[in-house]
Amino acid sequence: MRTRLGQNFLVDKNIAKKIVKSADISVSDTVIEIGPGYGILTEELLQKSKKIIAVEIDKKLAEELIEKYRNQKKIKLVNTDFLKYNPPKKLKLKFVANLPYYISSAIIEKILHLNNWDTAVFMIQKEVANRLKSPPNSSDYGVLTIACQVYCEVEKMFNVPGTCFQPKPLVTSTVVKLKRLKNPLIKKNEEKNFFRIVKSAFLHRRKTILNSLSLELKIDKKILEEKILQAGISPLCRAETISIDGFVKLAKVLS
Ligand code: SAM
Repeated sequence: MRTRLGQNFLVDKNIAKKIVKSADISVSDTVIEIGPGYGILTEELLQKSKKIIAVEIDKKLAEELIEKYRNQKKIKLVNTDFLKYNPPKKLKLKFVANLPYYISSAIIEKILHLNNWDTAVFMIQKEVANRLKSPPNSSDYGVLTIACQVYCEVEKMFNVPGTCFQPKPLVTSTVVKLKRLKNPLIKKNEEKNFFRIVKSAFLHRRKTILNSLSLELKIDKKILEEKILQAGISPLCRAETISIDGFVKLAKVLS
């Protein structure tokens, strides 16, 4: 077993059922499963959905599943790295996965920038779940929190102890449900500017927002100070105290 690929396999069928139930799948849904492994979630998804696209990086595991489901038309197995995979653009999708923990944040960031899905249910490290759901004024609050909450409503569903996996991971896991907002808080053409500001703000967590942004954005400090005030934010506060709404306003005045 290769733990470098985040291969901690779920062995508790009741947890698999609970994860799939959380995704509110209907018989008309196409579900993308990331990292099916030996297929414990795939088997549950098969009962509920119209079509499953299972994307597995490990050649041996992918071949085993291709063989297992060779007469099952509902399942398409794709043997590739999900970070390099382009999901279909014309279908409305749902995502379900027990994510490989070494790239869970990168996978979440990738799907946030897609717009043809409504629900994602992911098992992730408890610490990452805390970052997704964090309010401001917490050390968990950061770029990932804001990226997630401008596009989604985030719900923590339940924790899963290490004993439900083989091999047992060193961390506790949490199942989260992301529901994509019908109207995300930023528009497609605002994304680049918004994330440039958010990332710049959090590059220097201990500095004031005025100092962080003036270092990264190379804008005259006096002008920047006025813009920050215009967004209703104190230039002396730190990034982690600024609400998501505050960042949306800041990006608008700095666009
Ligand atoms: N779904 C299975 C389960 O619940 O038992 C396996 C979950 S295991 C935590 C993560 C799975 O993701 C493994 O099968 C691993 O090979 C696969 N994986 C790791 N990196 C991947 C990547 N970049 N793209 C697709 N699959 C990946």
